[in-house]
Amino acid sequence: MDYVRLRHRRESAAEETSGQRRPGPAVRIPGGPGKKRTGAEQLTNADIAELLALEAEGASYPLQRAFRRAGRSALLWTVEAAELERQQRPLTELKGVGPYLEKVIHRWLEERPSIPKRDEIRRNFLTWPEAQRILAQNPGWKARVRGDLQMHTEWSDGSGSVREIAEAGLARGYEYVAITDHGKRLKIAGGINEEELEEQGEEIEEINDEMRENKFRVLRSIELNLDTAGNGDMEPEALAQLDIVLGAFHSSLRSSEDQTERYLAALRNPHLHILGHPRGRIYNYRLGLKADWKRVFGEAERLGKAVEIDCYPDRQDLSSDLIKWAREAGVIISLGTDSHHPWQLEFMDLGLAAALAGGISEDRVLNFKSGNELVEWAEKLRRTGRQRARAYRPNRQKVAND
Ligand SMILES: [Zn+2]
Repeated sequence: MDYVRLRHRRESAAEETSGQRRPGPAVRIPGGPGKKRTGAEQLTNADIAELLALEAEGASYPLQRAFRRAGRSALLWTVEAAELERQQRPLTELKGVGPYLEKVIHRWLEERPSIPKRDEIRRNFLTWPEAQRILAQNPGWKARVRGDLQMHTEWSDGSGSVREIAEAGLARGYEYVAITDHGKRLKIAGGINEEELEEQGEEIEEINDEMRENKFRVLRSIELNLDTAGNGDMEPEALAQLDIVLGAFHSSLRSSEDQTERYLAALRNPHLHILGHPRGRIYNYRLGLKADWKRVFGEAERLGKAVEIDCYPDRQDLSSDLIKWAREAGVIISLGTDSHHPWQLEFMDLGLAAALAGGISEDRVLNFKSGNELVEWAEKLRRTGRQRARAYRPNRQKVAND
């Protein structure tokens, strides 16, 4: 199954409305003889992904597409290509690799080409084997994750039912999953309105009744489509019925100006608990937004809100460089796979490894909380949000004088 699915093309198309696609730099891989490989210089899947992306820039259609696609797939290859060769297995076992690319990659493995500094648009992404190596150093982390806080079902642009994704969560040993279908204004991703959200709630209630004996629960949530002023796209009454509210930006994601104010506004939105895929980046496609992250994470910490590590392979957002800032601010982290199919719950490993490598402590990660603790946390945020709203007195005197 192609993990780089239609969803991203659709969602990305929606995000494209505000800007032109930036053509990639025409970087050529220096030719000439490469060095014979040694153990220390072994080409990794990350290197191969980079080489494939660079080759794509010089190739013409349809080869260009094959290179790009294989480059993205390389993030998820479960074994290092070099290891596969050592085992004398064909590289065509790797997703996106046909007989032609097999020859190309084989040549790279034989004669390592020199690789220029990675373009920012492909920097700070983990490959699957890298994530596994990180997680192996602290196996307790994976064992203690209790749930996943971002996923989509066929109610919006996912391809599984609520029941199927809940069963996949249960099979992973989770205690809960949060269903976060898109809010109504992200029409291109099949966003749902308040009425549909309520219907979905009834379906979830039935499933929860059945799954109670397994001590498993489906949390009602949503992925709000936040506008640049930080407002969501659903009525507050509908959001009040949910266990937890996630929101994310899906428009004007190619702005090159500082977007700090947009983030601060979103975090101050009293209905929001988790800021999803904060940067809005996509591997080899879009850099995402710029902001004063120290201020953004500082404000999230002050308000007690969470920022997400979206674990989807070509998002990985927050990225490892920003995770370090998040750790310094002490902000709460939410892990969400952004799954659009039940099997994608396995993407958790990428975000979990990124958090672990970034030094995030376990008590800062929502996914280590029980379902009850999580719902209490969200309720407390709602209460403090209401208190803040009550304490806020517009300066009438000043308004009158104006
Ligand atoms: Zn999203």
